[in-house]
Amino acid sequence: MPASQTSPPSPTTHLISVVLPCYNEEAVLARTHDRIARALHPVEGVRYEVIYVDDGSTDATWNLIRTFTRESPMVRAVRFSRNFGHQAACLGGLREARGDAVVVIDADLQDPPEIIPEMVARWRRGWHVVSARRTARHGETAFKNLSAFAFYRLLGRISDHPVAFDTGDFRLLDREVVDLLTGLADRELFLRGAVGWAGFPETTIEYQRDPRAAGESKYTLPKMLALSRSAFLTSGSVLPLRLPLWTGTASLAASLVTVLTRRGRAGALPLALFGLESLAVAALGEYLHAVLRQVQGRPAYVISERMRSTIPGAVLAS
Ligand code: UDP
Ligand code: MG
Repeated sequence: MPASQTSPPSPTTHLISVVLPCYNEEAVLARTHDRIARALHPVEGVRYEVIYVDDGSTDATWNLIRTFTRESPMVRAVRFSRNFGHQAACLGGLREARGDAVVVIDADLQDPPEIIPEMVARWRRGWHVVSARRTARHGETAFKNLSAFAFYRLLGRISDHPVAFDTGDFRLLDREVVDLLTGLADRELFLRGAVGWAGFPETTIEYQRDPRAAGESKYTLPKMLALSRSAFLTSGSVLPLRLPLWTGTASLAASLVTVLTRRGRAGALPLALFGLESLAVAALGEYLHAVLRQVQGRPAYVISERMRSTIPGAVLAS
């Protein structure tokens, strides 16, 4: 057959993985599955796979997920041996995902799946990360609203990396970002923080967060505190470890002023001792931070793009 008569090559089809962490979501999961399936109709050049991660549910969640896998070829699922927590479930989903891009979304329909196609469209325009920012939260308790508001603003103040306000884990990540995140050695990965640390080009879609479609929140107070621990301490900021440096320095300075101005000299010694002790604690903090960084083994830098000259002969063959 002459070359001119061969059919044109079909445009590249991209696989998008949608990850749903689920913990005791029997009340809502059938509805979620239905809405996800309707929202993710394949469009030209895009296919979807849906990955359910059962984070050790003790209700009928896994049975429901099993029926989904039997009914739909686009569904895959993994089940954790026990409840490891939302962040671990997200990470497990990212590891299972085979897509060119991966979307993580809550299973309780608080995040509307209908905006996933828009996320995919932006990704196809070149964004590595497409985040979804909540402009309003409907049906939440006053405590949840206040704690969430304070969480992002406080973290933004002290974090060593950029923090996207009011942005949870509902986001699309390019394969390159997924590979980077799943390759990190952090035992307790704070996903949102790690995305900020990685620093890939990010765009944001704003949305209004709906109330939970059914069931109760699975983010109990201990789980919120555990998330804050990794957000503020082990993953996000070195500031708490540096606190004794400031108190120590201030105490030493105050003791010096006391001596020099000859006022209340009796208090100078305890002030100086407290200052020195604080500085010793601060030094321990620095060692601890160095050990933490070493253990986490994060790369010193992340390359997001490469270019080379297109001038013929400019690049030596390797
Ligand atoms: N989740 C999980 N493991 C947990 C707690 C929650 O996989 O230990 C899931 C949960 O099923 C939901 C998502 O994480 O899909 C967010 O949880 P939830 O809606 O209860 O939190 P909230 O929206 O109240 O902060
Ligand atoms: Mg929820």
